[in-house]
Amino acid sequence: MSQLKSVKQLDVRGKRVLVRVDYNVPLDNGTVTDDTRLTASLPTLHYLREQKARIILISHLGRPKGKPDPKYSLAPVARRLGMLLKTPVEFVSDCIGPGVETAVKNLKEGNLVLLENLRYYPHEEKNDVQFAKDLAKNADFFVQDAFGAVHRAHASTAQLPALLPSAAGFLLSKELEFLGKVRGNPAKPFVALVGGAKVSDKISVLEKLLDKVDTLAIGGAMAYTFLLAQKIPVGKSLVETDKLDMARSLIDKAKTKGISLLLPRDHMIVKDVKDEASATYTEDPSIPGDWLGVDIGPNSIQHLAGPIQSAKTLFWNGPMGIFEIERYSRGTMEVARMAAQAAQKGTTVVIGGGDSVAAVQSAGVADQITHISTGGGASLEFLEGKTLPGVAALPTI
Ligand code: AMP
Repeated sequence: MSQLKSVKQLDVRGKRVLVRVDYNVPLDNGTVTDDTRLTASLPTLHYLREQKARIILISHLGRPKGKPDPKYSLAPVARRLGMLLKTPVEFVSDCIGPGVETAVKNLKEGNLVLLENLRYYPHEEKNDVQFAKDLAKNADFFVQDAFGAVHRAHASTAQLPALLPSAAGFLLSKELEFLGKVRGNPAKPFVALVGGAKVSDKISVLEKLLDKVDTLAIGGAMAYTFLLAQKIPVGKSLVETDKLDMARSLIDKAKTKGISLLLPRDHMIVKDVKDEASATYTEDPSIPGDWLGVDIGPNSIQHLAGPIQSAKTLFWNGPMGIFEIERYSRGTMEVARMAAQAAQKGTTVVIGGGDSVAAVQSAGVADQITHISTGGGASLEFLEGKTLPGVAALPTI
C-alpha cells in the first residue's frame, strides 16, 4: 500500500483545519465513561495547536437515526476533551450552518471547536456530497483521523477528501502501520487469538488469518460452534448452527495448511448465566446437557501460554468468555496479562478494538500493549483485506 499523505505535509500554520475524529465514546448520564478515543486523538491535536492551526473537530456518536437526540450530543465530549488538553474546547450545537460559521470566524489560532454529532443529519450516512460541501465550507484543510469510521462510506469519510487539500492524522497513520504489520508480513511465529460471541462477524477475518498465522486460537462463545462442528457436545452454550459447515471447512483448511488450531480444552460452565454460584469447571472440552459455557478453563489458559510466549507477532480480538461478569472474566484477564508480558519481551502485540480493549484496560495492562486499535469493525475489515473507503479517498505520496 502506498503511503498516505501526512498532516505534517500540509502547511496548516494559522489555517482552519477540519479534523474528522472518532469520538464515538460511551456516555453515562452525560459523562464520558471511557476516554480512550479522546486520548488517542491528542497527538494530532497537539501538533495542530503547535502549528497555531484553528481546529474544527467533527465526529459521530451512537445512532441518533438522522435527527437531533440529546442522548447522543457531543457536548459532554467537548468538556472532557478540554480537560485532557487543559484548554477550553468550544462546543457548537450544530455541525453546519450559521452557528458554525460564526464560531469558526471567531476561532483564534491554536484554539478548537467541536461541532455537534454529524449523524443528527441523515445526509452523513447517505454519503451526501452537498452535506460534505457544507462541512468543508468553513475550512482550508481536511485531516482524517477517525480510524474507527473509515470503513464506512459516509460524507465525512468518503466525500471530504475530494473537497479540501487533505491528509491523514497521526492516529490513522499509526493504526494502518500496526495493523499493516499484521496484514502484511508479520514477524513469525504469528499467533492470533480470536474470541467473542459471533462466528458470523469474524469468519472472513479467520479465513484471512489462516493464510498468515502459525497458530490460531479460538475462544469465547465462538469456540462452541467449532467444538460442535467436531461433534463435541456443548450443552446449552451459545452456538450458531447455521455456521457449523463454515467452522468445519475452516478446521479442514487449518489441517491442510499445517496450522495449529487451538480450541478450549476445558470450560467454566454454569446452569444459567445469572446463576454465578453454580459455576464449575469441566474436565474436558465437552459440556453436559443442561449447562452452558461462560469462560475458558484453567487448562485452556495454560495451553495458550506457550504459543503466546513464543509469538513474535500476536493479534487478539474478542474476549475468551462473558468477561463483563467478574466471575467469568478469568480467561480473558489471564490472556490480557500474558499478552502484556509478551509485549514486554518484544513481541508486537496488536489488539483489535472493542471488548478486548476493555479487557486489557480492566486487567491494568493497556499501557504495555504495542498497539491497541480504536476501531473494532474497521480493524477487522482492514485485516480481511477490504478497501476502507475513508482511506481510499485520501491522497498518497
Ligand atoms: P464480539 O462483539 O463478537 O467480540 O463479542 C463480545 C461478546 O462476546 C462479549 O459481550 C462477551 O460477553 C460475549 N461472550 C464471550 N464469551 C461468551 C460465552 N461463552 N457465552 C456468551 N457470550 C460470550
